[in-house]
Amino acid sequence: MISSRLLQIAMMIERKKVVFDVGSDHALLPSFLVQNGICDKVYAGEIAEGPLNHAKENIEKWGLEGKVIPVFSDGLAKAADDVDIVVIAGMGYHTIRHILENCEVERYLYFLVQSNTDVDLLRQYISDHMYTIEDEKVVYDGFYYQIIRFSADLHDPYSDLEIRYGPILLKRRDEVFLAFLEDQLERLKAVNMQARKPEYAEKIKELENLLYN
Ligand code: SAM
Repeated sequence: MISSRLLQIAMMIERKKVVFDVGSDHALLPSFLVQNGICDKVYAGEIAEGPLNHAKENIEKWGLEGKVIPVFSDGLAKAADDVDIVVIAGMGYHTIRHILENCEVERYLYFLVQSNTDVDLLRQYISDHMYTIEDEKVVYDGFYYQIIRFSADLHDPYSDLEIRYGPILLKRRDEVFLAFLEDQLERLKAVNMQARKPEYAEKIKELENLLYN
């Protein structure tokens, strides 16, 4: 079984589209998508030989040859023309940014991105390019992970608050998102007890406002 994080990403993928999973070390997500009839064809892209070999071993072990296709590629450099949806997950913001800067975002239906770091900077990047955030989810899988679906459709820049917390998450205020905010608040209060700083106090106030007002 795949992790709750990858499962949440799988649930955000439209059926029967062609997906390219960037950084697919064990081809777990592509295999899950094909095995569960969500997709007929998924590319598992990897920049490193070792992880690509692990992906190939799993594809063979699970009999998914021709349906899950391993590709040796830096980001989307070697992506075929039939790709509809791109997944970039489990990496840091700077790697994700490198991948986005070196592809034609307009070519794809949408991207699902899950950054392990600096999610606010990722939203800022999306906003600066006037892309549209179409959906967002928070999932708890040992840590809280944020998954963003965005497309190249034109959108006005997002506000600072939306960049920090997510425009869709703020609107929807679902249970996991509120638990994530509470977790952030508790952590920040603990840090502020150790070393008081005005920026911590400000952020604590902002989180309390979002949670309780
Ligand atoms: N996407 C999977 C997930 O979310 O569980 C695997 C994440 S794993 C931590 C990151 C993988 O991305 C590594 O196998 C690494 O080799 C690969 N990677 C890093 N930069 C890449 C790039 N520019 N293009 C393709 N793959 C990349």
